[in-house]
Amino acid sequence: MRIGVPKEIKNHEYRVGMTPAAVRELTARGHEVFVETKAGDGIDLTDELYAKAGAKILPTAEEVFGVADMIVKVKEPQPVEIARLKKGQTLFTYLHLAPDPEQTKGLLASGAVCIAYETVTDNRGGLPLLAPMSEVAGRMSIQAGAHCLEKAQGGRGVLLGGVPGVPAAKVVVLGGGVVGTNAARMAMGLEAHVIVLDVSLNRLKELDEQFGSRLHTLYSTMDAIEEQVASADLVIGGVLLPGAAAPKLITEAMVRQMKKGSVIVDVAIDQGGCAETSHATTHADPTYRVHDVVHYAVANMPGGVARTSTFALNNATLPFTIALAEQGAEAAMKANAHLRHGLNVYRGTLTYGAVAAAQKLAF
Ligand code: NAD
Repeated sequence: MRIGVPKEIKNHEYRVGMTPAAVRELTARGHEVFVETKAGDGIDLTDELYAKAGAKILPTAEEVFGVADMIVKVKEPQPVEIARLKKGQTLFTYLHLAPDPEQTKGLLASGAVCIAYETVTDNRGGLPLLAPMSEVAGRMSIQAGAHCLEKAQGGRGVLLGGVPGVPAAKVVVLGGGVVGTNAARMAMGLEAHVIVLDVSLNRLKELDEQFGSRLHTLYSTMDAIEEQVASADLVIGGVLLPGAAAPKLITEAMVRQMKKGSVIVDVAIDQGGCAETSHATTHADPTYRVHDVVHYAVANMPGGVARTSTFALNNATLPFTIALAEQGAEAAMKANAHLRHGLNVYRGTLTYGAVAAAQKLAF
């Protein structure tokens, strides 16, 4: 198969669809990989590294789209990229179509076979191509939160781990899923006092078994949230109701009760955020203050550590990319129901119920 990897063109997007190591896995199997020049420059994955892995470097995105049977990307295609898609060409990338009727229309009109990373499933009911980005965001949330707690950032001037003779900061993590578990891990590593709240008793049991007495678990009720948030130095919002907007667990009244200079890192902001006072921010201007509480609500946190995120994403996508290349999209999806769940648009037909429901389209 001929696989194309264009340079990402969304603002400040430095991730890239395939690493040189992934390219080598494909070329070693006899496939051709075409990489747009400078596709990985932003994260020091140079044309030389891609060429060494067996890729052919092409000077423009037009040529990459023109030559490829399958395009492997990171972000949803931008209008100029949608216009380049060919009938029957496979597109393998994040799409997030539900809130994006314009993109849906474009992909339907393209006649391409569009497989979304975010709806591919696994045996345990998880979303394996979304999980690596939640791992990154969860771990990063503690880095970001620790930074925001510094005085110069408007924070309380508190060190997460304290020092001998001075207590550690209190970190409250709402949601003990992938984001929450990774946040808790990092916060415990820095020796903070960490509490995780979840509505899933199973999840709390697993966390308890995994981390023992170093981690405190609490069943998530309004009472528990109110009490914990009021006394927290750092709150991490990592809740998810699959397919729905994030529940507003932290009310504005609770924010008013929080300590001056405490911090909320609302990771769930990509689903609307779990604090009433949250609105999305960017890496260029990540924080703002409401009632003297610092809010960090960057909607694409993994983009801030684009190099780590690219490798993490490729580790998860590579087996699927290989299957698509080896068998062709149709046969690969026939053979693997989890990959088939990724199919959102097939040659002009919408194939994903939740997208159709969100946009009130025929399905
Ligand atoms: P997940 O499904 O693994 O975990 C979510 C957890 O929230 C579950 O354990 C669930 O039981 C729990 N939960 C649901 N309702 C709750 C409540 N009322 N109180 C407490 N817990 C509750 O999801 P995830 O992968 O950890 O993702 C969490 C959020 O982070 C999602 O909204 C995701 O889109 C977002 N995210 C954001 C970024 C970013 O860059 N901002 C990156 C990755 C993920």
